[in-house]
Amino acid sequence: MARLIVILDDQLSPALPSLQNAAADDVLLLAEVAAEASYVQHHKHKIILIFSAMRHFAAVLQQQGYQLCYIHYDSQSQIKCITDAVQHALTQYPHLQSIVITQCGEYRLQQEINNWQQRFSLPLQILSDDRFICDLPRFTRWAQGKKQLRMEYFYREMRRYTGLLMQGDTPEGGKWNYDTDNRKACPHDLQQIPPLHFAPDDITAEVIALVNQHFAANMGSADNFSYAVTGKDARRAFLHFVQQQLAQFGDYQDAMLLDQPFLFHSICSVYVNCGLLDVRWMCNKVQQAYQQGLVPLNAAEGFIRQLIGWREYVRGLYWLLMPDYKQYNGLNAERPLPGFYWHGNTQMRCMQQAVKSTIDHAYSHHIHRLMITGNFALLAGLSVKQVTDWYLAVYADAYEWVELPNTLGMVLFADGGVLASKPYAASGAYINRMSNYCKNCAYNVKHTTEADACPFNALYWDFLHRHQQQFGANPRLALAFANWQKRSDSDKAAILAKAANTLNRLEQL
Ligand code: SF4
Repeated sequence: MARLIVILDDQLSPALPSLQNAAADDVLLLAEVAAEASYVQHHKHKIILIFSAMRHFAAVLQQQGYQLCYIHYDSQSQIKCITDAVQHALTQYPHLQSIVITQCGEYRLQQEINNWQQRFSLPLQILSDDRFICDLPRFTRWAQGKKQLRMEYFYREMRRYTGLLMQGDTPEGGKWNYDTDNRKACPHDLQQIPPLHFAPDDITAEVIALVNQHFAANMGSADNFSYAVTGKDARRAFLHFVQQQLAQFGDYQDAMLLDQPFLFHSICSVYVNCGLLDVRWMCNKVQQAYQQGLVPLNAAEGFIRQLIGWREYVRGLYWLLMPDYKQYNGLNAERPLPGFYWHGNTQMRCMQQAVKSTIDHAYSHHIHRLMITGNFALLAGLSVKQVTDWYLAVYADAYEWVELPNTLGMVLFADGGVLASKPYAASGAYINRMSNYCKNCAYNVKHTTEADACPFNALYWDFLHRHQQQFGANPRLALAFANWQKRSDSDKAAILAKAANTLNRLEQL
């Protein structure tokens, strides 16, 4: 019985469940459709990466003898969405008798897919996505009955389950988590080894032309695109990271340096989230590097935690809590997103650096995202909807299952603490400790109310003051609140007035 096997744009993996047992008379459908390319205004690099990787993946499948229905992007096409593409394929290949797909990553699209059986009057098989280590029923079982769903405990279960960095039942080195070793500021003269970049081939060049024509207004320049677009090149990029950068990734993963957008970060989230890299293979390579003495434990553990802990945890949480999760706005954050999130024109050096990296590469590393763009959005009470849409649009690794819990939960604390045990609010002092930005900034990080005061400072105290009711009893914020209470009434009034003034002139910062 011939089947239509639908492969989505983030399912570009040879090991995809729906590709196992594919037969010669099955038809594989890949479609570049307007609905997916434009439901937010994606960064140009994200569209290039996905379209080019889809075309390369399709070429490999064709070489392997599979029958393909590939739909190229066409702004005038009647095929606007994945459902239209399925309709088209079923018309072209009337012998097909069922539809198979691997569960997709986004709730929105999964709802569309769930209608196919009725719409096309054909059996529909939706397979569990076993590229993830923890399947969704397992995550639900883990979450059941728990008052708090903390990543750390889930992560320990995943370590036991996978056996990664384990000695029997004991974690390697005796501790589960070496994060306290991973918060060093980076000396500015430490030699940087950049991630591997790749010159566009003919297929990518064609996609770049397409993006320049149809997505000219989107963020970024198509002309400096240099990501890998095949599994082979993505694996090369990752092995380069393991051999050249991983040893220092642990120590400096929270550090920031002027004009060093990558430091020791792998940037491989871009590849693993669209299917070009396999999580188990990556973790095994990191474990091997540790076992061979090439990288220290804090680096290996920190990296593996991101993959089998954090990544799996946010995916489980997303599917557990959607669709309600997307509506959460626990801190009533509604202020419009300032323009500098899109163009980076601000005197705040830290913000300018984080947004520049975003514009240049459709990437910024996690501390930029959490403690600069995210921290500012939290302190200023920026609209949850606008901030989550921004993160979804501008990062090449952003798909809603990973972006929403990270942004709405971790960054904005809009879920009231389902994901994080405290809001990641910080003044300029944190940014100054972890970077060399403040030395190169028009604002003075030591000032709070003066004309040249760092905007993060008054906003930080204002945030605490505004949300005293929500967070006053949180033990992790006790010291911060004690410091606020110690201030005189006139000090407090001056700081709150400065914060109000700052919030009124966000576009001028
Ligand atoms: Fe950012 Fe404030 Fe430092 Fe300037 S002084 S770089 S605005 S933290």
